[in-house]
Amino acid sequence: MRETTNVLVIGGGPAGSTAASLLAREGFQVTLLERDRFPREHIGESLLPSILTVLDLIGAREKAERHGFVRKYGGYLEWGDDTFEIVFGDPAEFKDGYGFQVIRSEFDHLLLEHAESQGVRVRQGVKATEVVFTDGRPTSVKWVNTRDAEETGEISFDYLIDASGRAGLLATRYLGGRRYNEGFRNVAAYSYWTGTTPPRHGPPGAIQVGSIQDGWIWAIPLHDGTLSVGVVAHKQSFQSRRDQGRTIEELYGDALAESPLISGLLESGTRVRPVQVEQDFSYICEESAGPGYFIAGDAASFLDPLLSTGVHLATFSATLAAAGVSSILRGELREDEVAEYYRGAYQTAYIRFLVLVSSLYLNYRGKKSLFWDAHRMSREEVADGRIIHAFWNVVSGLEDLDDAEGGGSALVVSEMRRLIDVYFAQGSGRDDAWLAGLPEEEQEQVLAEVRPLVAPNEYALSEETALNGFFVRTTPHLALVRVDEPTEAVER
Ligand SMILES: Cc1cc2nc3c(=O)[nH]c(=O)nc-3n(C[C@H](O)[C@H](O)[C@H](O)COP(=O)(O)OP(=O)(O)OC[C@H]3O[C@@H](n4cnc5c(N)ncnc54)[C@H](O)[C@@H]3O)c2cc1C
Repeated sequence: MRETTNVLVIGGGPAGSTAASLLAREGFQVTLLERDRFPREHIGESLLPSILTVLDLIGAREKAERHGFVRKYGGYLEWGDDTFEIVFGDPAEFKDGYGFQVIRSEFDHLLLEHAESQGVRVRQGVKATEVVFTDGRPTSVKWVNTRDAEETGEISFDYLIDASGRAGLLATRYLGGRRYNEGFRNVAAYSYWTGTTPPRHGPPGAIQVGSIQDGWIWAIPLHDGTLSVGVVAHKQSFQSRRDQGRTIEELYGDALAESPLISGLLESGTRVRPVQVEQDFSYICEESAGPGYFIAGDAASFLDPLLSTGVHLATFSATLAAAGVSSILRGELREDEVAEYYRGAYQTAYIRFLVLVSSLYLNYRGKKSLFWDAHRMSREEVADGRIIHAFWNVVSGLEDLDDAEGGGSALVVSEMRRLIDVYFAQGSGRDDAWLAGLPEEEQEQVLAEVRPLVAPNEYALSEETALNGFFVRTTPHLALVRVDEPTEAVER
């Protein structure tokens, strides 16, 4: 069977559904292939406030609100010898200052059904098996019905958005170039509990995070009354304990007992599901866009889940990709400039969060162990110039690092500390006097860097919040627009 479509999306997770919905709402013919049949389980339940912006953009806010997911107004961390309270928005109002804690099988299903309701041809139980390239450009995808291997087909398209999650069809099979962050080779073991004690700390619906000797633990309240509890540890320490004969259940139990914050919640609780294990290595794909394709979400990059940034990065990249495809197909921008922009903007967004996550690991003041050592950015990573360069671009806008030579590593560390202090200043009681001591312009610059984590509306949707010189315009139609330059129709 041979079919055609304007845009083919591989994967029906948050990235795929978001990109597909946005493009279908623009009148493009969009087909989405999803290997599984929804609802399907997925880890990644704690969503940042930016999800409200995404839901508004695709027209699914009311459906999500009606579903009854737990509203998350922030987080509470017991981190080594420190405690932090994170509050989204103004606690007195709590209007748009919340994210959601979601059961992903339900949330992802809601988004996929919504995509279908917007006109996307959604094909569940259909796995993309091969991408066919013509002159270096993907032009069709071969697929198979996962329940009937005899049923196969091929679909041609103008544009491909690969949102296939960590499987990452394009990146792992055709492009290569996934760059792993050595320090973040983690493993997560998680399960679900009932009958737990309500948290005593943090704003309503807060994620609770407790550090332990070899990693950290999350506890996320879900709307069916269960508590999602997961342990993140370095792969090596996890494996060495497995080699000593500890079962996964035992390792999980040992870790929970180490955190007074988390074990206090679980005292009266019962674990209701087997413990599951997943790798959560961090990586970024440098070829996240090229002729005829964009890679969005986990298919392109994955970042340590400490700050719950996964779904944000997935839906944000999907929005940029959809706006880019829309502008290209309408002849407003050339695909090479859009691809170049997308690669750069993606890296900026990713590194911004990597720096924040690293800052939090750096700021850990507790017992030393392999986990904490591994999560400090290595000398090589800093020395190879990429992280330090990107970091400086993010934090201070400085292009030239020559004068930072030699002292570069120390500068990065001190800047990271400053960033994390700002991020956690609210309610943490930590000293943020240094910020007040900066010139006003610099204060604004530093705050602008941490805002995307906590503010729902900073989403590259206006000139003021533009990322790398472009922003996404939604009216009169979805488009990527260069700051200060009206778009004109150009040859593709
Ligand atoms: C331990 C852990 C904890 C996490 N915690 C959080 C958190 O609290 N908050 C948060 O925001 N994020 C969290 N994340 C990250 C989050 O899970 C992901 O970032 C998010 O799911 C990415 O969405 P996506 O749409 O890119 O990919 P996915 O949600 O993985 O969707 C990809 C889809 O593609 C489909 N697919 C794959 N291959 C094919 C193929 N060949 N053909 C057709 N379909 C295919 C898959 O079936 C899947 O449905 C966590 C991750 C881990 C590992």
